[in-house]
Amino acid sequence: MTDVTAMTATQIAGLVATGAASAVEVTQAHLDRIAAVDGRVNAFLHVDTEGALAAARDIDARRAAGAELGPLAGVPVAVKDVLTTKGVPTTVGSKILEGWRPPYDSTIVERLRAAGTVMLGKTNMDEFAMGSSTEYSAYGPSRNPWDTDRIPGGSGGGSAAALAAYEAPLAIGSDTGGSIRQPGAVTGTVGAKPTYGGTSRYGLVAFSSSLDTPGPCARTVLDAALLHAAIGGHDPRDSTSIPAPVPDVVAAAKLGATGDLSGVRLGIVTEFGGEGAEPGVTAAFNEAVNTLSKLGAEIVEISCPHFRYALPAYYLIAPSECSSNLARFDGVRFGLRTGDDGNHSLEEVMSLTREAGFGPEVKRRIMLGTYALSSGYYDAYYGQAQKVRTLITRDFTAAFERVDALISPTTPFVAFPLGARTSDPYQMYLADLFTIPSNLYGGPGISVPCGLSDGLPVGLQVMAPTLADDRMYRVAAALESAVGTFTPPAL
Ligand code: GLN
Repeated sequence: MTDVTAMTATQIAGLVATGAASAVEVTQAHLDRIAAVDGRVNAFLHVDTEGALAAARDIDARRAAGAELGPLAGVPVAVKDVLTTKGVPTTVGSKILEGWRPPYDSTIVERLRAAGTVMLGKTNMDEFAMGSSTEYSAYGPSRNPWDTDRIPGGSGGGSAAALAAYEAPLAIGSDTGGSIRQPGAVTGTVGAKPTYGGTSRYGLVAFSSSLDTPGPCARTVLDAALLHAAIGGHDPRDSTSIPAPVPDVVAAAKLGATGDLSGVRLGIVTEFGGEGAEPGVTAAFNEAVNTLSKLGAEIVEISCPHFRYALPAYYLIAPSECSSNLARFDGVRFGLRTGDDGNHSLEEVMSLTREAGFGPEVKRRIMLGTYALSSGYYDAYYGQAQKVRTLITRDFTAAFERVDALISPTTPFVAFPLGARTSDPYQMYLADLFTIPSNLYGGPGISVPCGLSDGLPVGLQVMAPTLADDRMYRVAAALESAVGTFTPPAL
């Protein structure tokens, strides 16, 4: 048998289904790969060796008993440490939750288990999903398998790095402003942000509740679609979950793979042109646009005049919601408690705990958000940002009257060297220039590899209307069928 870690999820599921490989063999091969390379990649914060092998044995037993197995049964998956996992450490990349073992599974993890996937462990991330490089993780950065001196993106850099390092064929991320798509772009992998409310937030540690969206990460578009179908759909435990079926993303990915986009209209956003992206990214994107056009897509330019205000609006809305959400980390209910020695008041214990438990970026956001929401500033900052959010939504609605989907580079620049943007928060925030509009609107977006710039991967983003997630999979799969997948140099 050839090395299973090099296979797609679809291929692995096929092996397990026919009995050509057992789930235990597949799982052990990935655990061995993690043991061999993760010292250099640091994709995982926690590897659940025992749990993974037990889950794999269970799949093998069910198969032996003749049970009907789902399309991803026996396939290993890495889960971003932002999702609760029963009895398995969940830190959100923060010291404040170090050692916390949640008493329950998030809906996403519950559905992963029900689908017969095997959870390998929890992946590294920027603390509380705030960042674009994993350098704000309290547990050290992850590294990009394409060049281990470079960042793998963020906040879900661990999940993307695990895929690119062949430590897992599937991974879960969460996308508030780009944290699935941007890591996908800079590691040459596929990352999809579903329609907001299309995947459950139950058990997703909250950053910005009106934006947070868990979603699939994989090395191929079809694998991402299969994972999306497995985790998506209505959840009564999440009040903003949409009571509608998941669009048929798997059929759309298969349709796209035929390489025919005739009749599909794609819009290029005027405002993303110009000085937005670095030259190598623009060149790879333009070449991909040519390819899409050769596949039959009609390409038009569309102006979305309010997109240029998306970044500033996001950096008011997301910190505002974060300042409210993170109030629950008070040293009483979860994780870390500092100064509880009989000499400090409750207030002092809270502030000592937060001082010790939160890193600088999280503190910056809490302060920004508290300020933006404070009386006297609310209308000028938070209220104004909400109005901009409405205008951005109107830009999308108007655009989708003329085109089926919008396309852009996923990120303005390729993976940058570790340390290059940590001293200037604004430079870090720019990584999500092209991904944030979809979050403010609530529509789905996917990043698919489209080429290389100086030997580093470039991603193309497809943005679709809310609840039309299938459209973006069709376009992404068509592009993938033409340009292929991208493999980093051996680690
Ligand atoms: N990089 C963005 C931020 O720092 C987006 C993060 C995310 O999507 N979780 O907020």
